[in-house]
Amino acid sequence: MMKVLLSNVVNGCRVGSITEVGRHGNKVLEFPGCLLYTRCGSAPHLTYDVLQKLDTVPEGVQITLPTLAEQHHVVKDFQQGIGKFTGMEDFFLYCSVQDPAVREATGYNFNKGVSVWGPGGRIKLEVADFMAIQKAFRPDWYQCLCDGDTASADTSTKRVRKSVDRTLNFLDQCLEIHQKSQELKGSEILGVIEGGDLLEERLRSARETCKRPVAGFVLDGFQSFAMERETRKNLLKAVLEVLPEDKPRIIHAVSRPDEVLEAVECGVDFFDSSFPYQVTERGCALVFPFSKRSHSDVCDETMIQGPDDSSQETTENQHCRGSIEDKRSQRTKFEMDLNDKEKYACDFRPVLPGCSCYCCQNHSRAYIHHLLQTGELLARVLLMMHNFHHYFGFFAAIRESLHQGTFQELKTMVTQRTK
Ligand SMILES: [Zn+2]
Repeated sequence: MMKVLLSNVVNGCRVGSITEVGRHGNKVLEFPGCLLYTRCGSAPHLTYDVLQKLDTVPEGVQITLPTLAEQHHVVKDFQQGIGKFTGMEDFFLYCSVQDPAVREATGYNFNKGVSVWGPGGRIKLEVADFMAIQKAFRPDWYQCLCDGDTASADTSTKRVRKSVDRTLNFLDQCLEIHQKSQELKGSEILGVIEGGDLLEERLRSARETCKRPVAGFVLDGFQSFAMERETRKNLLKAVLEVLPEDKPRIIHAVSRPDEVLEAVECGVDFFDSSFPYQVTERGCALVFPFSKRSHSDVCDETMIQGPDDSSQETTENQHCRGSIEDKRSQRTKFEMDLNDKEKYACDFRPVLPGCSCYCCQNHSRAYIHHLLQTGELLARVLLMMHNFHHYFGFFAAIRESLHQGTFQELKTMVTQRTK
């Protein structure tokens, strides 16, 4: 039976591990932690072998419905679940409804279900369709069908209430099917907290979801573009106070390092790793410092000057299909832009000196720049390796700092402004 072991709670930050978790009851997930971001069930740009070259790959993998839902009949015929189908059966699989790297189109959910967008367009999922997919996939955990379409600024109170009601209604229906299902024996369902930016609705959603037999909670609708930082912080704190301590809390689309640290302080346990993927897609590399051992002087020199506040830079779309210009305008102060000819065409240092990843051990900034210029796929492979390595190392550093009592020092190091 799943056990949440809280080894410490420091100023609201939770650190510990979940043991005996998963369909076979044999996995351990450490938190605060992140889940490996995937597309079509595999790490973007990386084969299984290449993925193994990274150290500290998270045990938990996040798969999403947009790139997989269309093919679920194939997985059903295959009969051995999505883990085996995608060659990721060694991992703990968590299935989320939406892709955290892609901003959802608004206005397409309906009373009986929600829409996700696959390669072939809109996929309408009613409860029965959704549960058929879960039965075919058989993940360890899955996010319950939910209506999280409350992020745009003109969302009315009525619409927010509807998202809470619908989501609770979906949860009750999904639980009923789940409990009768042989295929889903051992799988667990996570309840979803909705409520937009309304405190009252957030609390109602949290309290009602707690009454259901869910294994954990997904905090939905807290994306950067959805609300101000302060609002998010206050809502998260209020909601997490209501939730039981012995169940995990996952948040989606809050994966920038500074936002992660703030959410950890509110008591969030798990994050997605869509951020290093987005950084890779714009030809950038993560270089923010999180350890005294890392070369923070190098980080300072290469980091992009960015606005302090997340609100402006993310208001444009975060859609990963945007043009290159769109992507470049979304750069953050945590990364360096290897497309920059003036700076990097003749820079023969590693991307991040001192980094132990395959990319930094074997290649130079000049070479990555050249690969980007010539449109070679290898540029994304190497950048993805470095960016995942750096991001996973960041989470290891968060856990270590909570054990050592140095979380505030880490926070200062990560969020410091470049000169
Ligand atoms: Zn590296």
